[in-house]
Amino acid sequence: MYLTETHVQVRDMARDFADQVIRPVAEGLDRDETFPAGLYDEMAKLGLFGIGVPEALGGPGFDTLTYALVMEELSRGYASVADQCGLLELISTLLVRHGTARQQALLGDILAMKTKVAYCITEAEAGTDVSGIRTTAVADGAGWVLNGGKIWIHNAPVADLGFVLARTDKEAGNRGMSIFIVDLHAAGVTRGPKEHKMGQRASQVGGLDFKDVRLGPDALLGAAGRGFHMMMSVLDKGRVGIASLAVGIGQAGLEAAVEYAGQRRQFGKAISEFQGVQWLLADMAKDIEAARLLVQSAAVKIDRGEDATKACSMAKCFAGDMAVARTADAVQVFGGSGYIRGFEVERLYRDAKITQIYEGTNQIQRMIIARELLKKGARA
Ligand SMILES: Cc1cc2nc3c(=O)[nH]c(=O)nc-3n(C[C@H](O)[C@H](O)[C@H](O)COP(=O)(O)OP(=O)(O)OC[C@H]3O[C@@H](n4cnc5c(N)ncnc54)[C@H](O)[C@@H]3O)c2cc1C
Repeated sequence: MYLTETHVQVRDMARDFADQVIRPVAEGLDRDETFPAGLYDEMAKLGLFGIGVPEALGGPGFDTLTYALVMEELSRGYASVADQCGLLELISTLLVRHGTARQQALLGDILAMKTKVAYCITEAEAGTDVSGIRTTAVADGAGWVLNGGKIWIHNAPVADLGFVLARTDKEAGNRGMSIFIVDLHAAGVTRGPKEHKMGQRASQVGGLDFKDVRLGPDALLGAAGRGFHMMMSVLDKGRVGIASLAVGIGQAGLEAAVEYAGQRRQFGKAISEFQGVQWLLADMAKDIEAARLLVQSAAVKIDRGEDATKACSMAKCFAGDMAVARTADAVQVFGGSGYIRGFEVERLYRDAKITQIYEGTNQIQRMIIARELLKKGARA
């Protein structure tokens, strides 16, 4: 309903790429937990990273709705690939909004995937409650000295640069945090082992430790003390990204289930002729479309400059819950086959679960929705 010709063109380009290049290799990437480097190079050449980066800074300058469409299509191919796109969108949005000209010059290599990046907030004692972070950056001469550690960081095993949230003022609460661009090859940086995950197994996730890591004055992104606010300010867009990723997983499950139901025969007929199976397919289709519309509506609110917080949380929460429930239905349509490794729906079910957890758990999304309702009223 909101799509222009450009939206449709970019969506279809991403869809073709997912069908021809991503989907055929997804099972192997999941099985081998492999980082698909060549594939990311191709995506970079197609301009699928940093979708919102303005042309003046080397990006295509597309709107949030385009970003949502691309994320859905890439995720329909394989969620780990979309995850990389989402991560680069968050980092590039931070750089576009808060970077100096010198820091923004990093964007070229980041969007070409020549410089790999990580977004580093979570710590052992600070997950949902980001205000609990203990990583510190202490001013030292013209620069800073970083100490602490992060866990479950996407790209940590392979990244060149970390965008690290650290405490710069112990007394100032959420106003005492800052973001630093950290060279992850520098002395004092240690990488933990790669985590072995339930789903999205090609994404490389791990920990980072910082011991007396010396940072130059250029490492500080934006103003000191504004890090928490800056990280939070990109979360609306981040939530649209994860919600779109969840819709893509659901859509892949629906397509697989419809095809299988037409082929699999029991009692002398295709299982698609049984009403019990038809209702599973119908529920999948209606919930996926509902999630898609919520996501697109939230994206349009961001693009119009409207207050999008509640819309983004509703989209992320609904789409994540939908993806888990409806990929379970896809497994059900496949019967025992759906439980066996190598069948796409088995992977999709595993890939869906994390969409209820990262970028703010779905409990937190419900808290935000309720807070907004109680603050602004039920019709706002
Ligand atoms: C695969 C993967 C990739 C990740 N990538 C990154 C990354 O790139 N960068 C990064 O910084 N982090 C990353 N994370 C971390 C992720 O963002 C956190 O796992 C998430 O924020 C939840 O934190 P937690 O795991 O510590 O859970 P906790 O905060 O310990 O929460 C545990 C449970 O308690 C609930 N809970 C907590 N507080 C409340 C409350 N006030 N009200 C109601 N319920 C509550 C939660 O919803 C959850 O169900 C990643 C995690 C995973 C698993």
